[in-house]
Amino acid sequence: MNDAEYLPLSWLSQVCYCPRRAGLLLNERLWEENADTAKGRAEHERVHTQRVERRGDHIKLFEFTVFSDQYQLIGKCDCIEAVRDAAGCQIPAAEFPVKLYPVEYKHGSVREEEEYQIQLCAQAMCLEEMFHTDIPEGSIFFISSHRRMPVSLDDTLRAKTRKAAETLHRIRQELLVPQAEYCAKCKRCSLRELCMPKVRASARNYCRALEREAVGQADLEELL
Ligand code: SF4
Repeated sequence: MNDAEYLPLSWLSQVCYCPRRAGLLLNERLWEENADTAKGRAEHERVHTQRVERRGDHIKLFEFTVFSDQYQLIGKCDCIEAVRDAAGCQIPAAEFPVKLYPVEYKHGSVREEEEYQIQLCAQAMCLEEMFHTDIPEGSIFFISSHRRMPVSLDDTLRAKTRKAAETLHRIRQELLVPQAEYCAKCKRCSLRELCMPKVRASARNYCRALEREAVGQADLEELL
């Protein structure tokens, strides 16, 4: 790896959720726990232990570190399933070529969240770069419901993942904290109290109204 700043790939899901949230977390180091984040953390901690499980031609790598020099990202895969495949790649944990299949663990029941898919896709892109292989699919495993949702890692998802990585690096390099845009996601955002999306929006409107008034006053004085 070179000396550039490698950012955690899990932050891609924050960027996707809300760029302002990513800016607050990354540049202002704000964090506020709510019921959702606490539950997610507890469930993650229960399944997160670095280990390798082997059963014949099937290997599972838990908490496997991945990185990409191309996208300057680093992170961990919750689980990588590696199955013997003559057309697969070589990894240190297997004496035979394997096909790789990343699985990302999330708390709660099955739901389609694009930010989860982008995080999974970034993991796959890191693995592809590290092991010179192709990974067409991965899964999101929902811990509470014990259900898997397969995700096709197609061109559209890859383009969104690259875009999210660019945005994340820009937020970091320029120390940006984008403006708040109040939306449905704000209701379940753990940073709601710190971000104050409504207050900031109304403050902006107030400033704009003052500006308009000042311009109007100047126009009036010119006429007198
Ligand atoms: S409260 Fe809304 S605007 Fe603020 S960080 Fe959360 S999601 Fe983004």
